[in-house]
Amino acid sequence: MSSDAHRQRSCEGEPILLVVSAPSGAGKTTLCERLRAEFPRIVYSVSCTTRAPRSGEQDGRDYHFLSEAEFLRRVAAGDFLEYACVHGHYYGTLRGPVAVALADGRDVLMDIDVQGATQIRSVIRGAPNEDLLRRAYVDVFIEPPSIDALRARLEKRGQDSPETIARRLTQAIEEMTHRDKYGYIIVNDVLEAAYDRLRAVFLAEHCRTERHQKIRPD
Ligand code: ADP
Ligand code: 5GP
Repeated sequence: MSSDAHRQRSCEGEPILLVVSAPSGAGKTTLCERLRAEFPRIVYSVSCTTRAPRSGEQDGRDYHFLSEAEFLRRVAAGDFLEYACVHGHYYGTLRGPVAVALADGRDVLMDIDVQGATQIRSVIRGAPNEDLLRRAYVDVFIEPPSIDALRARLEKRGQDSPETIARRLTQAIEEMTHRDKYGYIIVNDVLEAAYDRLRAVFLAEHCRTERHQKIRPD
């Protein structure tokens, strides 16, 4: 490790796994992209999905786009840390890259739905205290200011049909019932203000005493 990298790691303590969930259209992609732009050492967990790419999305960067048969093969092989069916398509997080990044001291950012976050919480509940995933876990729920605002954002994004938007809004109401399971809730009203709060969570989590207990002076 270079001395700069070592110094940076010593300041930050152990890595965090930042799990971000939100109803579709609440703004989590926008907020997560800003966090990644400001903190480029964060490893973004690229999920697998069986849904079709949206315009501008790239395989391997935004998602690994898989056929349903390939997705189910990987489920059977135990490759996923968690997976769920969301809006009629499968989505899942590959176990390997997350474990490698955390073991390397890198923060991981994960954009997953409420079912996926529930699965990871149950994995870490059964894990020993020294488990890296358990020590790293931090979760944030991004909430839209209202359902009307959510509808307007989905329409403005212009990526989904009216039927898909209607389905996502119904789903959003259900997803919001899970908000209290998260350690942090951020209402994405004014983007700048919401980003300031996400950034504050990220930085404050790095200052937690328990993330610095294993660091010894040279
Ligand atoms: P998600 O990833 O949660 O589905 P996106 O980040 O794609 O949501 O945001 C949905 C749409 O809402 C995008 O067009 C985005 O530019 C817009 N948006 C995000 N945050 C805000 C905000 N605070 N105010 C207004 N529009 C926003
Ligand atoms: P979208 O199709 O809009 O990109 O994502 C739809 C939903 O799937 C979002 O709530 C997003 O957080 C969720 N999602 C994306 N990747 C994963 C994943 O790997 N696992 C789970 N459980 N949900 C995911």
